[in-house]
Amino acid sequence: MKTLTLDVEGSLSGKGQTLILHGDGVQTIRVLTEISAPVEDPKTLDGPLCNVIFHAMRHCSKLKVKGPISEKLFRNIALFQEAWHCYCPDDYQFVDIEAADVIPSENFSMTPHNKNAIQTFSGGVDSIFTLFRHPGAIDSGSAETTRSALLVHGFDVPLSNQTDFDNLRKRIEKITDSADVALHVVRTSLRESLPTNWNHSHGAALASVLHLYSQSSRVGRIAGSDPYNYVSFVPHPWGSSPATDYLTSGDEMEIVHDGAGYSRPQKVAFLADRWPEALRLAQFCWRGKDRSANCGNCDKCVQTRLSLLAAGHGENIIFGSQLEPKMIDRLKFNEETLGDILPLLDLARANGCDAPWVHRIAEQVSPFLPVMYKSNRSIGRSIRYFKAAFRELMPR
Ligand SMILES: [Zn+2]
Repeated sequence: MKTLTLDVEGSLSGKGQTLILHGDGVQTIRVLTEISAPVEDPKTLDGPLCNVIFHAMRHCSKLKVKGPISEKLFRNIALFQEAWHCYCPDDYQFVDIEAADVIPSENFSMTPHNKNAIQTFSGGVDSIFTLFRHPGAIDSGSAETTRSALLVHGFDVPLSNQTDFDNLRKRIEKITDSADVALHVVRTSLRESLPTNWNHSHGAALASVLHLYSQSSRVGRIAGSDPYNYVSFVPHPWGSSPATDYLTSGDEMEIVHDGAGYSRPQKVAFLADRWPEALRLAQFCWRGKDRSANCGNCDKCVQTRLSLLAAGHGENIIFGSQLEPKMIDRLKFNEETLGDILPLLDLARANGCDAPWVHRIAEQVSPFLPVMYKSNRSIGRSIRYFKAAFRELMPR
């Protein structure tokens, strides 16, 4: 099997950096990363290693890193690879990583730790919730305050689409300005230059761009999507999760998967109560032709409408139109979507919402429950809760 070498050129105190991945008999790959304002360069290549790890697990057996790695990431990345080999043994193999230097953890403990955090910010509900809860809207036990948010051009919006990205940025700036948080923008060719299964690799990609800011922020937060009690509903491995995001932490920056104690409907309800101005600006749907607006009709948009209704709010906080019954009929019900839909019913029940749509959805969901209950005991508690709520709909 092949050996690949990772080199890094350029500087973050300049315009940005270029990752170069090369080896005998393979085409050299360059990943270009530009940043909106210069920052101090990290002392390690922890970020670049997170950047290329999925490509390496797929295409080589040994990776030589031409620079130092922190001891913590060196240890974590082995566990990270173990996790992904366990998820997808046919896709990912364990790569032997040889770094120019592995800097011992105690060397970093001499440096005084700052109390700053930076978070990834796509402009969606999860990232707005994570921004609002730090500092202190919901106690998370964290000592670090979010001072910066990071928007990436080249992840959700392709690099070729400058217009929609500029619109998204303007929208997000209104949110970060009102929270008195600095917005940094990173432009990267990672998705284009190193094509991987994005459903698998996006967590490591987010960690890699957070690591660029490790000299000014001690903690990098990734806004979580699925809550702990529904993670096991996700029928395929998902790139950003409470199980694996922590394994992209190094000694310079701790990566934290934030907000998984709350479902998306709960986050929508919380923001509708506490920060409706930001929720109004949320961008969570990428289905419409205009990538800077929510389409209002896709599963995610309809679920967001229902979250607002379940929490006793009007849809007009976000949408310019009203829910129509046909929108509910178009929702897809299968094992893949139950992890999104059951938390919605949980929220409706918790708020005493008994509207006809709740029963319509409960009817659609009920055929799946006995099978899932038998196949996965860890989700039994949620289903028992559901059965108690909608007893009359359950098959005898
Ligand atoms: Zn939509």
